[in-house]
Amino acid sequence: MDPGLRIERIGGKVFPANTPALFLDRDGTINVDTGYPDDPADIVLRDDIAPAIVAANGANIPVVVVTNQSGIARGYFGWDEFALVNGRVLELLADSGATVDMVLACAYHDAGAGPLTVANHPMRKPNPGMLIEAAKRLGLDLKRSLIVGDKPADMEAGQRAGLKRGWLVDGEAAAIGGLSVLPLRDARDLEGLLAAIRSL
Ligand SMILES: [Mg+2]
Repeated sequence: MDPGLRIERIGGKVFPANTPALFLDRDGTINVDTGYPDDPADIVLRDDIAPAIVAANGANIPVVVVTNQSGIARGYFGWDEFALVNGRVLELLADSGATVDMVLACAYHDAGAGPLTVANHPMRKPNPGMLIEAAKRLGLDLKRSLIVGDKPADMEAGQRAGLKRGWLVDGEAAAIGGLSVLPLRDARDLEGLLAAIRSL
């Protein structure tokens, strides 16, 4: 087993072959980013993300969380704390009727110490490894998949995985290679994202 990677398949929902997915970053996208969160009691959801997940659930689109967790390589916390925090994120989403189907987390970082100290690991965003791994496991059509994140690295990972559309929390409209980036800043932006999910 890969010591710097966690992959959790949640629930047994069956998806059609070659389905697009909704990829989501976690910290700063699903939950308010508190900087290397390691305490479930600190977790607060952002307002505009549960509706997007609910829309994907309703359209039978798999929801896949792809999260860099360099706090583990840096020695700030361990996989046990990650699991507790992540469980709290999923619990708060469930309270809003929103279900995540898979979570992939990458601990590798070049600033760490020990076996997780790896520079430019293929699973760490902006590299596309986690998206490609999810695509293998769920049988995804990456080209039609969407990604929502709060960092340019999220958008770059999407672009390098072959996605065409991304939404950047508090960002600006942009094009990164073949990926069109739209901002996710207000209710109108959210309506656009919901419409895109429903028309997949
Ligand atoms: Mg983030």
